[in-house]
Amino acid sequence: MATIAFIGLGNMGGPMAANLVKAGHSVKGFDLSADILKTAAGNGISPVTSLDEAVAGADAVVTMLPKGAHVLSVWGALVKAATAGTLLIDCSTIDVESARKAHELAAGAGCLSLDAPVSGGTGGASAGTLTFMAGGSDAAFASAKPLLEAMGRKIVHCGGDGAGQAAKICNNMILGISMIGVCEAFALGEKLGLSHQALFDVASTSSGQCWSINTYCPVPGPVPTSPANNDYKPGFAAALMLKDLKLAQEAALAAGAATPLGAEAAQLFDLFDKQGNGGRDFSAIIEMLRG
Ligand code: NAD
Repeated sequence: MATIAFIGLGNMGGPMAANLVKAGHSVKGFDLSADILKTAAGNGISPVTSLDEAVAGADAVVTMLPKGAHVLSVWGALVKAATAGTLLIDCSTIDVESARKAHELAAGAGCLSLDAPVSGGTGGASAGTLTFMAGGSDAAFASAKPLLEAMGRKIVHCGGDGAGQAAKICNNMILGISMIGVCEAFALGEKLGLSHQALFDVASTSSGQCWSINTYCPVPGPVPTSPANNDYKPGFAAALMLKDLKLAQEAALAAGAATPLGAEAAQLFDLFDKQGNGGRDFSAIIEMLRG
């Protein structure tokens, strides 16, 4: 069993670190919030008060932080304290460029590194059923896989440095666009006098089927577990969808890729967020689209 340092024990990192403990690993946790450290201690994580203390004697370090700037600042400190050969895994959702810079920091210190963002939300983090999209060398992936398996169900090696982040933002761009498409279709169906159930029964079994309708239908009724049945409590908050769509737009600009629908989706979620809906589930955008 490994000794693991876990940095960033928030909504996602807290339950992920707890699952590493459940799998028998020894986990040291660091977070800027004292309250979060106290909760983590209740889940068998040993709280530490500095990054140096976290990394001392650790075989692997996992980071789960808000943005690229946080990851680069924490990894900058980690590589100074880590011994060569330590495995660094970043599970945050960040921009591809920062992810590649983080890999460079690790390589400079002789550490193995992986970008491994996740899909599955806080429910998947608690249940240990996350999907990991990993980018990095074969050696880093092989070394990280048993740890990722303690926190997730599906682990995909997407390619070299930054490939995990690239897969994550491409996937979430599909999701943002498809949810808007499904919402528009239901709003149009309402105006045409079509019941939600009738449109669902047809589209979920025909060429319109997709995750946004079959699993996460944005109107109450057809899929009882979708947030639409629970006053659009997240689920997946609209602010996080906006974050991911903006990351996709940054990456598209840098790579010279045309993503007109991705750009439109980012603008619509930006407007929805500015109307005070960032904390609601992203499928609630149907209310804005109804006009
Ligand atoms: P969160 O805000 O709940 O947790 C982030 C934690 O990082 C906080 O506890 C904060 O105190 C800590 N932190 C910030 N800077 C730090 C530093 N320098 N040193 C130590 N700790 C520091 O956020 P979250 O919802 O857990 O999301 C984390 C990442 O996971 C984000 O990149 C997010 O986009 C991604 N993500 C979130 C979800 C979700 O449903 N919440 C789903 C998939 C991916």
